[in-house]
Amino acid sequence: MALSGLQIQKLLPKTNCKECGSNTCLAFAMKLAAKKADLNECPYASEEAKSVLGADSEPPVRPVTVGAAKPARVGGETVLYRHEKTFINQTLIAIDVLDDDPDLTAKLADIRDYRLERVGEILTVNAVSVTRHGADEARFLQAVKQTAEMTGLAVILRAGSTSAAIAAAALLKGTNSVIADVQAENLAEMRGAAVENGLLLAITAPDIDSLIVMSETLKADGFTNFVLQFDTRSLPETYQTNIIARRAAIRDNYKALGYGTLRFIRTGNAMDDTVEAITEITKYGGICVLPTFDPAQLVSLMTLRLNIYTDPQKPIQVEPKIYAIGEPDRNSPVFVTTNFSLTYFIVSGELENSGISCWLAIPECEGMSVLTAWAAGKFSGSHIAKFLKEMKIEEMVDSRRVVIPGYVSQISGELEENLPGWTVLVGPQEASDLEAFIKNILK
Ligand code: SF4
Repeated sequence: MALSGLQIQKLLPKTNCKECGSNTCLAFAMKLAAKKADLNECPYASEEAKSVLGADSEPPVRPVTVGAAKPARVGGETVLYRHEKTFINQTLIAIDVLDDDPDLTAKLADIRDYRLERVGEILTVNAVSVTRHGADEARFLQAVKQTAEMTGLAVILRAGSTSAAIAAAALLKGTNSVIADVQAENLAEMRGAAVENGLLLAITAPDIDSLIVMSETLKADGFTNFVLQFDTRSLPETYQTNIIARRAAIRDNYKALGYGTLRFIRTGNAMDDTVEAITEITKYGGICVLPTFDPAQLVSLMTLRLNIYTDPQKPIQVEPKIYAIGEPDRNSPVFVTTNFSLTYFIVSGELENSGISCWLAIPECEGMSVLTAWAAGKFSGSHIAKFLKEMKIEEMVDSRRVVIPGYVSQISGELEENLPGWTVLVGPQEASDLEAFIKNILK
């Protein structure tokens, strides 16, 4: 029978040293009970704890860390469907470059500098794959070195030969980069290179049974820092294989397939590439390597990824505070809305587009939208007034005009009672009507 968090805590050192990333041993024990952590993350776990908890404490999909300067996790998932709890570690997006590309420097700069802002989060490319194109090993090594130095990202090696992979691995020591295309024939040598340089392996085989043998061989040798690279040849086969592996890991606790995955996408057609990448993001892909740097494709894939990997139980929120829109002064009006990220970014965007300078007050509403927060008693007149006073709004402005969303016009009286001397204006219901409201009513 699975142990509870409290039972597991009794087996931990109880020093609360935080080295596992949790604030207390109890918090770490709770994660172990939920299979969201690995006992090996506690460096002080006793032999007794290891023998009692053993494999049962491991998450069904083993988490690994990719990259050192900007580390990201792959695996660690505990559910098959996002709505059952949440997906934890998002699909990493990598871009492939060829070692003989005459525009390599410019492409690496594009990859390094790519930034996408969505609901307050800055999204970037996670890794770069370097593919050897031709026989020139020295050129490949130079490209690997340049990629690591220019981007600071994890490098995925497609070396084309064991000797080139070993030489390139030495250049990436301590970066948590990935040696890809590792086959049964060079498994032992690649494991040695990975252990020596602190890298991961992406293991591959012509069929899933052979891949399972490789996975079990590595595990028996005490090496688990790897991901699975399925050798599938069509989109339906990839889709099916990803699902079979993840179901086996989570439903049947089948350890040999309980690892993250890596997939190189190269269909020769940008639309098909995008469809394959979408399949990876929605169906359990660990690292998805795109064949080219295409900002338009990245926008859609990263936005989709953000949606899939957002915790459905925790709305994305912005920090409760008073935000300046434009260059507000003491005569500027105050707008109020909730701290649900989507609401905040839509309202702030419309205010910016209108050209007005104002203050945007965002009280704590537990990430709920306007009507939901009002229904839950988190966006009442007294709640907003209390927040504005705590933020010392009266020391910031003389204008004493506050605009509330049209959907909660019913709180205007309560807000005026709690904010003596202020004029409460009921704004439009839809943010898209803010510009007209500002032109026609506020000015
Ligand atoms: S590293 Fe171990 S001892 Fe330290 S807080 Fe985590 S569980 Fe407790």
